[in-house]
Amino acid sequence: MAYNLIQFQQGMSLPDFFQAFGTESACCEAVLRARWPGGFVCPRCGSAAHCVLFSLGRPLFQCHACRRQTSLTAGTLFAGTKLPLTKWFLAIFLISQAKTGLSALQLMRDIGVSYPTSWLLHHKIMTAMAAREAQHQLSGMVQVDDAYLGGERAGGKPGRGSENKVPFVAAVSLDGLGHPRFAKLTPVPGFTNQAISTWAQANLASGTSVLSDGLACFAAVTDAGCTHTVEVVGQRKPRDLPQFKWVNTVLGNLKTMISGAHKAFAYAKYADRYLGAFAYRFNRRFDLSDLVVRLIVDVCRRPATPQRVIRQA
Ligand SMILES: [Zn+2]
Repeated sequence: MAYNLIQFQQGMSLPDFFQAFGTESACCEAVLRARWPGGFVCPRCGSAAHCVLFSLGRPLFQCHACRRQTSLTAGTLFAGTKLPLTKWFLAIFLISQAKTGLSALQLMRDIGVSYPTSWLLHHKIMTAMAAREAQHQLSGMVQVDDAYLGGERAGGKPGRGSENKVPFVAAVSLDGLGHPRFAKLTPVPGFTNQAISTWAQANLASGTSVLSDGLACFAAVTDAGCTHTVEVVGQRKPRDLPQFKWVNTVLGNLKTMISGAHKAFAYAKYADRYLGAFAYRFNRRFDLSDLVVRLIVDVCRRPATPQRVIRQA
């Protein structure tokens, strides 16, 4: 039997994870390296000379030049947290490795916190993932499709345009061998020329070759300097269309994640987070060990976001 090398990769085991990030001091060290890769620099005056005090067990840096005290976690997603960083890091690890998603309820049991705390951690970490995903554009050959969250199926064409669903664009770029490389899943106000034009300018590099079905609005990708090829789908099933194989595969995996781990959530409020978190994992699936380390860095570098903002979305 031929093993799928991506599916069967080792990743980072729980013992490996605890070895690397199992203590509060190891987690503090990781936050320090992520925030100040070249060593601590005072955010007020830019001086590097400092001493380290401790407050509630966490480092507090005092600048020799201006005397300002800077806490390790002030200004980050961890700001004001009463939880040990080891719990945060374990949550990051579990979320990063859960290909089929991880519910806030499961996270609550796994890390031993209350449900509201688990929900907040989950959403803060997903926010960091979605923000990171929003920074890059797709290029080369890209398959696109229109899809909905909250429909009978994540990628469902039936019911296109019906109510109580969040429309989003699913796009997958291919490498030179026709293998999927990166995915982007972006909520849009609707499938209009204006919405697709705006989406394409933000998410596609100029010169991208876009393949879509016959939905008229996708022609607007040319506004972003992309070329556009139409494959009329008609009444055929998506599985009968090799041209759309990868975008359909991604939508199938997304459907599995939503129906398995999350069942239902406030789609309209939180769609961008769930879609961004899914794409984050998908785009880093080639190296699951590296994925943990990258996500730790991305979470540590994310600015503080008050609970009120996380809940309101
Ligand atoms: Zn200073």
